Amino acid sequence: MGKILIKNARAIVTCDEADRVYYDQDLLIEENKIARIGADIEAPDAHCIQAGGKYVYPGLVNTHHHFFQAFVRNLMTIDRPGMTLMQWLDAIYKVFIQLDSQAIFYASLACMADLIKHGCTCSVDHQYCYTQHTGVNPIDLQMEAADMLGFRLIAARGTNTLPRSEGSTIPDAMCETTAAYLQDCERLIAKHHDPRPFAMHQIVLAPCQPVNCREETFVETLRLARSAGVYMHTHLCEGENRDMLRRYGMRSLAWCEKVGFLGPDIWVAHGRETLPEEYSILAASGTGISHCPAPTIYGGSEILDIPGMTRAGIPISLGVDGCSTNEGSNMLDSLRLAYLMQAFLSKQRGGCPAPYDILKMATTAGAKMVGRPELGMLAPGKAADLFMIDAERLEYAGALHDPQSILPKLGITGNVWLTMINGRVVYHEDRLAGVDERRLLEEGESVCTRVLRDTCPAFAPYRNNR
Ligand SMILES: [Zn+2]
Repeated sequence: MGKILIKNARAIVTCDEADRVYYDQDLLIEENKIARIGADIEAPDAHCIQAGGKYVYPGLVNTHHHFFQAFVRNLMTIDRPGMTLMQWLDAIYKVFIQLDSQAIFYASLACMADLIKHGCTCSVDHQYCYTQHTGVNPIDLQMEAADMLGFRLIAARGTNTLPRSEGSTIPDAMCETTAAYLQDCERLIAKHHDPRPFAMHQIVLAPCQPVNCREETFVETLRLARSAGVYMHTHLCEGENRDMLRRYGMRSLAWCEKVGFLGPDIWVAHGRETLPEEYSILAASGTGISHCPAPTIYGGSEILDIPGMTRAGIPISLGVDGCSTNEGSNMLDSLRLAYLMQAFLSKQRGGCPAPYDILKMATTAGAKMVGRPELGMLAPGKAADLFMIDAERLEYAGALHDPQSILPKLGITGNVWLTMINGRVVYHEDRLAGVDERRLLEEGESVCTRVLRDTCPAFAPYRNNR
């Protein structure tokens, strides 16, 4: 890797403790870390990137995704207006259960390519699709896919252990036993989990959600994760509270308190149904929320109370969520959506996070939430994970006075100019490094056709479109 000198950047937005922005300065990278930021850095042995006119940002950290869903999108047969949640789940799980591990491999490549092209350098993927077609190797294949693209992957090993015949929403064919899940978690931790700072591969344990798992699954997850020193994740307060009340006589957060599934090593996706009187449960335990704006809009559901939760001390990060409720993996788009949604309710709530606060949710806050403080900030000693946009474009005229706000405030959602991960340029001027993008696209498309388009009823209306 050696040294890379980013020379004369128009702005370097650091997201550091002092919220520093450097103008017309340089950033020196040594191996996989940032060595220096300053004026006129001399490094004759470094590879030089001329960054005049470019804005530099810390790489975005995506704290919630389901890569496997990339092959279950752009389907109007599933997203019909007026469908009930159960009708939608019925339709979509019929597609999920046809996926095999090869489909998940190419779906993962598609998502990671999308993430990289929009400034994301590290993502959590919550993989909970396990069937007889997938076997247990999807995460092994996802790690291979991440290595092909040079992407930093935190794979959350999900599971569903309560079948629909016993009251969940999950078809029996997508359920595992707690014992089988735990055995695979142990295997994955031993094989892939690198606990060191700057790790490219990590494992998180992540039962899908309390309504779709047995209680023992969560209890055993806590035991294994804490003994192995890995983080935990789940979906929570995303519409399941009525079912939790029916089954356990308590809301989801009270149930989490009862089983002990709270703590600074745990973060939950969504959290939008959390009541103000429950904020202290999350805040006091240090449990974070991954806010995913797109599915909130798709589902027409509650907009997360970021001002109130922030005042209460709940950590909040940003996620794209899976393609079934977002379609794409564009983190810049999530910045924009999150800001607009908060602005929409700002009068009612008497406040709105600043655009820069939203950017920090996707950088420093996300990094801290997943236990990776070396990410999400541009400062000496931090990881060389960053992205750059070309600010010298006519469409930005009149806006180039506040690089901290410009991404969410203007809604800059196109492909970035350059993405660097762990000191390596993985994307530059519309090219992914080290892969034949067209060949991977063709292979992925043919796998989608074999696994889904030729056989799955949800794809029937599209069969003659090629
Ligand atoms: Zn999700």
